[in-house]
Amino acid sequence: MKDFKNDPRFAGIEPFEKKIWLSSPTMHGEELEYMTEAYTTNWMSTVGANINEVERLTCEKIGRKYSVGLATGTSALHLAVKLLGERLYGQPKVGHGTLEGHRVFCADMTFDATVNPVAYEGGELVFIDTEYDTWNMDPAALEKAFELYPEVKLVVMVHLYGTPAKIDEIRAICKAHGALLLEDAAESFGSTYKGVQTGTFGDISAISFNGNKIITGSAGGMLLTDDEMEANKARKWSTQSREAAAWYQHEELGYNYRMSNVIAGVVRGQFPHLEEHIAQKRAIYYRYKEKLAGLPAAMNPVDTAVCEPNYWLSCMIIEPEAMCGQVRGETDALYETEPGKSCPTEILAALAAFNVEGRPIWKPMHMQPIYRMNAFVTAKGNGRGASNAYTAGTGAGDVGADIFARGLCLPSDNKMTMEQVDRVAEIIRRCFD
Ligand SMILES: *Cc1c(COP(=O)(O)O)cnc(C)c1O
Repeated sequence: MKDFKNDPRFAGIEPFEKKIWLSSPTMHGEELEYMTEAYTTNWMSTVGANINEVERLTCEKIGRKYSVGLATGTSALHLAVKLLGERLYGQPKVGHGTLEGHRVFCADMTFDATVNPVAYEGGELVFIDTEYDTWNMDPAALEKAFELYPEVKLVVMVHLYGTPAKIDEIRAICKAHGALLLEDAAESFGSTYKGVQTGTFGDISAISFNGNKIITGSAGGMLLTDDEMEANKARKWSTQSREAAAWYQHEELGYNYRMSNVIAGVVRGQFPHLEEHIAQKRAIYYRYKEKLAGLPAAMNPVDTAVCEPNYWLSCMIIEPEAMCGQVRGETDALYETEPGKSCPTEILAALAAFNVEGRPIWKPMHMQPIYRMNAFVTAKGNGRGASNAYTAGTGAGDVGADIFARGLCLPSDNKMTMEQVDRVAEIIRRCFD
């Protein structure tokens, strides 16, 4: 670790006294009232008024007919995958996954929770490369994947960092190939695409109330569907698949995935503050954009003619010519200081030295050891070949690896003041001196 405090490039910059977080929970008071209500009325389990109200509020906000409150976004995605798998291939024998023997197209540059549920259900994950316009699934690569694997019937997409993907294109391709779409809107709650809320675009969709999301329950998630039978099935599965009998009677495999009424109280208290959080995140994004102007770098792209993101995380990407030497192994990274240049590894180390939390771009799934043998389809078609080293301009055609190499997530905590954003931007600016 270099000594940034004594590095003349950073002269005059003070470390933050209180740590600046990437994205931490922001409480308002109402959360405690609803949690207390659960406590005083003794609805301290997975039944109660908070769960009912949070399900109602979610449907109302997103514009979806049914929502099912679950323990986490990951459990929502798992039950969604299982429902879609049963819709496509029927119910498997107990102990077997719904997707066994079937390929599924999955977003590549995302958090692993988006795609792991496909593996839980025994599916074979085929990763689809990313495009530069929204940093989401590339419709051209998806089209290519259907040429290679025309039998595929399920696509798992995500809206990374709160920016909606190219939904019209992706939906049209799915329709043309008779494939179902699972939409992971965990990071994009409150974002709209052509005026419509994300969470409405999948045959089934999911959102998350994890501690770092735009609003939180400390944990929690929602499965969203327009099919009443599927909503009921997800609710039943999530409570151990109990049948209507006096004793514990089971016809199907069950899960303990239901949302707690205490957690739901926190979410309920957060709901009135969703738009306020989005406004704060938006202000942070545009302040960074203003303060980082002129650097050989850009913010994560946002096309406001098409969408209004929730700006959950502000990110930046360094121009290829301005990248200093950077090499990443599986768990460590090295870089070389070069005048006029920088890289995510240097910037993240500098931020950390000044008590600021940033984070690398979510490492693409095809680069993860766990999925190293899985197929990966790029628009250019030459697929794998990019390594952990910086490969932009080499024609490898691996957009995810390129964004991972050159991009990073900036602290985007909605409690940040504009002065704090300015100081963070100044630290980043000095990295290029
Ligand atoms: C947070 C997140 C999830 C998982 O949600 P949890 O509530 O943490 O289980 C899934 N997908 C994406 C893209 C996420 O960011």
